[in-house]
Amino acid sequence: MYTCRNCKRTFRTELALSLHRDACAEGQLFCRVCGDRFAERRATRDGWHYTCPNEECDGEGLTEDLLRVDDVRIATRTR
Ligand SMILES: [Zn+2]
Ligand SMILES: [Zn+2]
Repeated sequence: MYTCRNCKRTFRTELALSLHRDACAEGQLFCRVCGDRFAERRATRDGWHYTCPNEECDGEGLTEDLLRVDDVRIATRTR
């Protein structure tokens, strides 16, 4: 069983989970340093300073290391 860390839905295969992660409404932020996705509320406490919720990762800063998934989609579409 594979569980989405953001919305806690479970999937039977890793593929189903990875497809879901692209569409998951709870995974709006993307970390450039570790490549993970997570909900915005997991990355900030005050809505101002953003850090990657992964303990091993020191990515921080919205629009620096942490990007909104919607912005990434827009950026890749222009290539
Ligand atoms: Zn999810
Ligand atoms: Zn990270």
